[in-house]
Amino acid sequence: MVFAFVLLAAAVPDWSALEPEILRHFRALVQFDTSDPPGNEAPAANYLQRVLEAEGIPVTVIATDPKRPNVIARLKGSGAKRPLLLMAHTDVVGVQPEKWKFPPFSATVDGGFVYGRGTVDDKDNVAASLMTMILLKRLKVSLDRDVIFLAEAGEEGSMQYGIAHLVEKHWPLIDAEYCLAEGGGVRKRNGRAERMLVGTTEKNPTAVKLIARGTAGHGSAPLPDNALERLAGAIARVSAWRIPMKLNDTTRTYFEKLATISTPAQAARYNGLLDPAKSPAILEYLRINEPLHYSMLHTSIAATMMQGGYRVNIIPSQAEAVLDVRTMPGESVGVFLAELRKVVNDPSVEVIHTPRRDVAIGEPSRFDTPLYRILEEAQKRVYPGAVTMPVMSTGGSDKAYLQARGMQCYGIGPASDDEDGPKGFGAHSDQERLSVEELYRFVRFNWDVVVSLTSRQ
Ligand SMILES: [Zn+2]
Repeated sequence: MVFAFVLLAAAVPDWSALEPEILRHFRALVQFDTSDPPGNEAPAANYLQRVLEAEGIPVTVIATDPKRPNVIARLKGSGAKRPLLLMAHTDVVGVQPEKWKFPPFSATVDGGFVYGRGTVDDKDNVAASLMTMILLKRLKVSLDRDVIFLAEAGEEGSMQYGIAHLVEKHWPLIDAEYCLAEGGGVRKRNGRAERMLVGTTEKNPTAVKLIARGTAGHGSAPLPDNALERLAGAIARVSAWRIPMKLNDTTRTYFEKLATISTPAQAARYNGLLDPAKSPAILEYLRINEPLHYSMLHTSIAATMMQGGYRVNIIPSQAEAVLDVRTMPGESVGVFLAELRKVVNDPSVEVIHTPRRDVAIGEPSRFDTPLYRILEEAQKRVYPGAVTMPVMSTGGSDKAYLQARGMQCYGIGPASDDEDGPKGFGAHSDQERLSVEELYRFVRFNWDVVVSLTSRQ
């Protein structure tokens, strides 16, 4: 007993001593400009390779383009159980530098926050997974399964360099029972951790192009088949289309759990979704006031780009629009397109499907697995007072490639304030930031979860 106690105690990291190291790695990663396009993840990948190898952890680099490497490292376990994969992406979305208060790749620390592109998408997960690997090795934790680290390139829209290539050509290097990656996080309200969202599924991103055609002519003599006007009419009909609500296990549980921590009025709405008498009014309320929740309940369509015309006095013969479409998991794109064509209801407007990735997400990850329970238990220790709930992300992530192959994937992330997103501090914003304290807490959480799942006692 005494020995067991000593061994366990030895495996507890000295967190306050580790804080400078955590912050150093996190800031270094943010300081690499890995904007995708063009990507250029190589400096970040080289950094990770150096750090891992310095700890004695062997690294495999897989690159179809030398500027865009993926870093894979594996800590061997006893093999009693199938591996755990820790996945995060090193690329980030682009920036408009002039909009930033602090230079986007400076990782400036101000008022307890680190500012920079990638601080919450997804260099937080890269840094946390890196620290967990380093500590498992340093503290010689005895593992009952392999732990695989994957820092992938190309998540932000060029998956052929990253996950698509790895899944297709190097599956044995990343094959695992479970994966932890982005797509979740803790939400705080009034400074208190309120709910931990664990990403268990996500909508399928796809796109549709509308091309309206008409007769070209002089702007002084309006024509009845004006392409721009036809396009506008089609978009207006699509915008007015109310696609029926659909729930799955994840969203049903999500709204049930959310109701338990909401105001009575909110709770009545979340609980009333399945009541046919109440749901139309509830959905209309959510559409206006809680667009994210509305999107979780429907296949969504957002017009995001339009093009047409080049001179004030010329009626153009063609005009185009792009619709960002997010279908519900399991929904047939073919059926959706047939419905969409009926809604557009104009033979002069062509409806063209332009797929965005070649996988459709598989079954949602289950929440009756040992890892999901461990996430809940770790939440109670690290984020006491919060509630863990599964969530369906409306955005897409690379987890879909793994879930399509049956891997149980869970999206996790650090805590952010509910108020931060609307204030413009969230992912993809031009003031993206992460609280330094929450970075440390997330690293502790990551460690707690991984050790609970993998350590042999
Ligand atoms: Zn991301």
